[in-house]
This record gives sequence, structure tokens and C-alpha cells, in this order.
Amino acid sequence: MFDDKSKKYINTYVPLEPVDINEYKPFVDKELLEELRFMADPLKNKVWANVNSTVIGGGVAEMLQSVIPFARGLGVDARWFVIEGNDEFFSVTKKFHNLLQGLNQKITLEEIFHAYLDTIDQNTRDVRVVGHMVTIHDPQPAAIIMNGNVYGHTIWRCHIDTSHASRRIWRFLLPYINQYEGAIFSSKEFMKENVQIPAYEISPSIDPLKKKNRQRTREEALASLAEIFNENDIDPERPIVAAISRYDIHKNQKTIIEAFKAAKTGLKKGVNPILVIVGNSATDDPEGMKTYEEIREFAEDEKDIRLLLNVENNDEVIGSLMCVADCFIHISTREGFGLVVTEAMWQGTPVIGSKVGGIVKQVIDGHNGYLVEPHDVPGIAKAIRHILDDDVVRKTFSENARKTVRQQFLLPHMLKKELALMRYCLEIDNKIPDFRINKLAYKEIEQALYGRTAWPFSTDDLKKHLEIIQEGMESSSGST
Ligand code: UDP
Repeated sequence: MFDDKSKKYINTYVPLEPVDINEYKPFVDKELLEELRFMADPLKNKVWANVNSTVIGGGVAEMLQSVIPFARGLGVDARWFVIEGNDEFFSVTKKFHNLLQGLNQKITLEEIFHAYLDTIDQNTRDVRVVGHMVTIHDPQPAAIIMNGNVYGHTIWRCHIDTSHASRRIWRFLLPYINQYEGAIFSSKEFMKENVQIPAYEISPSIDPLKKKNRQRTREEALASLAEIFNENDIDPERPIVAAISRYDIHKNQKTIIEAFKAAKTGLKKGVNPILVIVGNSATDDPEGMKTYEEIREFAEDEKDIRLLLNVENNDEVIGSLMCVADCFIHISTREGFGLVVTEAMWQGTPVIGSKVGGIVKQVIDGHNGYLVEPHDVPGIAKAIRHILDDDVVRKTFSENARKTVRQQFLLPHMLKKELALMRYCLEIDNKIPDFRINKLAYKEIEQALYGRTAWPFSTDDLKKHLEIIQEGMESSSGST
């Protein structure tokens, strides 16, 4: 057996069936799919374990739901583990998240040692996560690297905009991060100079086969939305401005409301838009409901604003709403990438995005949308007016938006880099991947990989653990 000695804390999720890669033919070049098959060939039955902290909600869970079946479709034995924690744990890791995105918050040693490190310890006490490559996502599970129960080529993948990370939290996490064999950031701007391990840039992506991202006609979308529009008194004949994300302080929903109100005053005669804000809350995000309540209060008495929470039939509704919207707004104050931007663009909707984090990789000002400062209410209002008032702008941006996603941000594009990294880690390829974003002197690499700190266990333990890894590797290569 490869891993799951016990399921006490970490849950194993492998119910995701492999997908037939040919299904992606309508969306990407044939050559890309052939290249992926070629790259995956020596990785057949090799285990790629992924660890995160939630199955539903937020971009990481969204991506893993597609990455695992896709990689399995290529023959890679991709697996997904989810760590467990109580409210205290998710409260402290939410603080990590906020601090990493530059929001100043008080955090105590008690929280770090008790709520965080003890939970990590419990998660790994009886469980080993073993893979040829092991990707640990985000700060929640980051410290498990020190517990001696994670084996294989370990990669820490950061999905957060760390460009303005608080030094306090970065200093705490850094010793853990530097224990990994490599780190992945969504944008090279998020890399910090004191990362002493090889770092790579990989953009997130969306899955065109997902119900949410199905290309649909306006008529189909309206049929899917009929009930929810009816219940919430949304007239589909009116122009729709949509904003979809978790309810979270960094998503800056209050400014969206202010800018929408400002935009309404200067629109062409007869243009009478409605703002539809939809949000959910992830299980690893304890602040969601509080933020939702605050925004609800803020938008109260606004007859042209609808605020929806945890909609039923989520994927169909989200995809359809993005499709029928005339304009999509995503003006986060920090943003790792912003899959909602990609999804809206894929549905052919012009996006007004803030000039932060991963949004600037997607929205090209004046080409497929507009870029604005996150708190520039007049500027955002002007962008809304431009899009709603001008059919030509809307049509041109719509076409360009879809093209941008098709060329760069679909699942196969991301998998190409993931497989390249796996091949490099497993020494199938020796050339450093071209998406490497830092340079380390040879000595530093050596130190990063082999000599950073003392092993957290005795020589005898080490020997025993190496035997387990060996055993795992052998049983895996024989399995189907
Ligand atoms: N999402 C959803 N329903 C909602 C709100 C968000 O399905 O009510 C999805 C959204 O479509 C996207 C993901 O949650 O796929 C959010 O990812 P993103 O990268 O935009 O932000 P994150 O939540 O990871 O900060």
C-alpha cells in the first residue's frame, strides 16, 4: 500500500474518475494534447499526491476537481488529500491568508503553536502522504513538511498574492517553505527574495469541460437562470453587471457597490442596469458569513442590487450568469489569480479588473476589458459606463476575452507545466524548466535540497522511513 495507513485526520479523495483527454480536442491544439501524452508516458502510474484544506469553495478546490481526473486520464496516478482542522485552526490559517495578502492582523503564539502546529501534528500523526511528487497547496497544510510523514519530491504551491506579505507571517512560514524541494507561485511578482529553493511560475487554469465553463447560448443560459431570476426579481431585459466571488474582505465588494451606484448616474438614456453579486463561503474560510452580512447591510435599500449567497445548482447558475452578464467586475485589493476572471472571460464577458496580482495576467486594458485601481470609484464607474453604453466595445472585448483564455488559461496549458516539473523532479528531464523564476547558486541548491536543517528524526528512524518509501515506490510502479 502506498499511503493511507490510517484515515484519522487526512482524508483521501480518489473518487474522481479519469477523463478521456480526447474530450479536450475542441478547445486546444491537437499538438498540445499529443505533447501531453508524450510527456506523461514515463509518468504512467507514478503517484502525484496533492494536499489542501477544503474540498469545496475557492479556487484551489475548483482546480483540483479537474486536475486530478485530467492527470489520471493521462495515466498519472494523481491523488488528492484534504487535511482536517477545527474552527480554531481555520481561524488562524485565515489570519495567515490575510497577513500574506498584506492585511495587518494580530496573531498570538498560542494560536500558532496550539491551533496551527498541533493540528498539523495530529493530521500527520498516523498518516503518511507518499508520492513521486507531492504538491502541498497554500499555507494551511504547509507545515506538514516538518513532520517527517510526507515523502517524495515535495513542492509547495502558493495560490495567494504574497506581493505585500507581512514580514511577520513570512518569517514564520519561510523555514517550512525552504524545506520543500521547490515552490510554485501563480505570478513571479509573488516570489520573495529569501526563498532558498527553486521557484516556478505556473498560472492557474479553468476546465472547459466543467458545467460552469460550458459554452452556452444566451437562450440556454436564460433558461437555466429563469427560476433564480424570478425569485430575486431580476429582469433579464436589463443590462446585467455581475460580480462573483467568496465573501471576503480582499474581494472588495463594497467598492463594487459604490462604483455601480456612481455609474448609474451618467449612463445613456434608457440604459438601466442591475448589479448581481453572488458569493459563497469556503469551509476553510470562517469569515465568509460575517463579510456577507456586512455587505448586505451596506447594500440595503438599493433597489438595483441583488446579493445572493450559496446559490443552488451553483455551477450551472454561475456559468449562465457570467454568460448573460454585459459586464463582469472583479476589483480585489489582492488576488492570487482570480479564476472568476478567467471564467467570465471564457463566457465572453468583458471584465473590469483591478491592477493587482494575477488579474493583470488576464485582463489587457482596452483589449479584452479594463484595468482599474481597486479603490478608484470614479474610474471603475467610467469603465462600467464605457462597456454598457457601447455595443462595439462590448462585442470586441468579448471576442478578445475568449481568445485570451483559449490561448493561455485552459487546463491543458497548466498541466503541461505541472508534468514538466514532475519530469524534472524525477530526473526524466535534466534541463531546468523554462518557467523557473529564481536563480540559486549551485551551493544554495545543494543546501536547499540536502543540508538545510537536521533531519527531524534519528538515523534509525530515517532508515525505517526510507524502507517504507522504497516499498511504496515499488508497489506503486506495479499497480494499475
Ligand atoms: N465560486 C462559485 N460560487 C460562488 C463564488 C465563487 O462557484 O458563489 C467559484 C468561482 O467560480 C471560482 C472559485 O469559486 O471558480 C473562486 O476562485 P478564485 O480564484 O476567483 O478566488 P479564490 O476564492 O480562490 O480567492
